[in-house]
Amino acid sequence: MTIAPTPDPRRAPSGAIDLRSDTLTKPSPEMRDAIAHAVVGDEQKGEDPTVHALENRVAMMLGHPAAVFVPSATMANQIALRTLGAPGDELLADAHAHVFCYELGAPAALSGLVMKPIPGAHGTFDVRALEDAYVAPAWYRSGSTVLSVENTHAETGGQVWDPLQLTTVVDRAHSLGMRVHLDGARLLNAAVACGVAPAAIAAQFDTVTLCLTKGLGCPVGAVLAGREDHIEKARRSKQLLGGAMRQAGILAAAGVFALDNNIDRLAEDHRRARLLAELLTDAGVPLGQTAIDSNIVLIDLGHHETGSHEFATRLGQAGVRLSTVSNPTLLRAVTHMDIGDSDIHRAAATIAAVYAH
Ligand SMILES: *Cc1c(COP(=O)(O)O)cnc(C)c1O
Repeated sequence: MTIAPTPDPRRAPSGAIDLRSDTLTKPSPEMRDAIAHAVVGDEQKGEDPTVHALENRVAMMLGHPAAVFVPSATMANQIALRTLGAPGDELLADAHAHVFCYELGAPAALSGLVMKPIPGAHGTFDVRALEDAYVAPAWYRSGSTVLSVENTHAETGGQVWDPLQLTTVVDRAHSLGMRVHLDGARLLNAAVACGVAPAAIAAQFDTVTLCLTKGLGCPVGAVLAGREDHIEKARRSKQLLGGAMRQAGILAAAGVFALDNNIDRLAEDHRRARLLAELLTDAGVPLGQTAIDSNIVLIDLGHHETGSHEFATRLGQAGVRLSTVSNPTLLRAVTHMDIGDSDIHRAAATIAAVYAH
């Protein structure tokens, strides 16, 4: 029997520069090493020491008493919303929130929450917009009881909330009696971009989702942090949804490795996103956002004859992969740990060439 040479596990099979998402990162050899040596146990029975280590690390880092490891940030969000709201309650979030646009209506489908978007095109919003959307509970109406906030905001180009504006909104929601969830799938991008500790953003929320499979480079997983009683309730929902696992320390070990090694380097992804934006602007390719806050760049095809799907196909044939978003005139590029400076230069030149045709 002949054994084929082991391919570099991180290289994209196509050789294309893949900027569709930071979820595309492949675990590094060092991360695979940490996975291979993980001490494991039965997670569902609370016996996996590596899962406990990850949960404790994330709880500490986010300034919360407790945390629970789950298979995905989607599940973390839905467990959180279920924990904070009751059937019939209104869930408020911005109109472009991941929890509204990309989770199959789960707040309604799984938890009976009424999904009420805060209008606006920006992802972030102010106290006035919150107050306009808010409805006080009364005996004849359930009212707005849960607010979900996304930071960084994915759909509008990795926008980072201004810390003061965020605190003002969260404080107001709390003073209205609401419970507030942070969809912080890319919370660490926001913390690095603001130059603050993650807890400075996360501690003020009732529950916080952190995704491990975006810029942190893990293969699977997310963590939900919050109060002891909320996380206790969240563990029941995790079991209900089939999210309890067995020797999940295999996955949690990647998370612990990422917390040790992959946070500070997010600044590199942000620098490369700004570089890509500069190169594209210099080449006459319009952008779909005014500022590059983190690792996402939107390309505006509003004045181009080619639709975004066809443009993305042509670009793919030329060796650069971007993703479509819900706005049909935009394409999205996301920088991540498997993308270097030379990839950015090559991608910008290719996008500019396809745009010019
Ligand atoms: C990716 C993402 C999620 C979902 O993460 P999964 O781990 O893929 O389920 C949730 N919220 C935001 C803002 C995201 O970008």
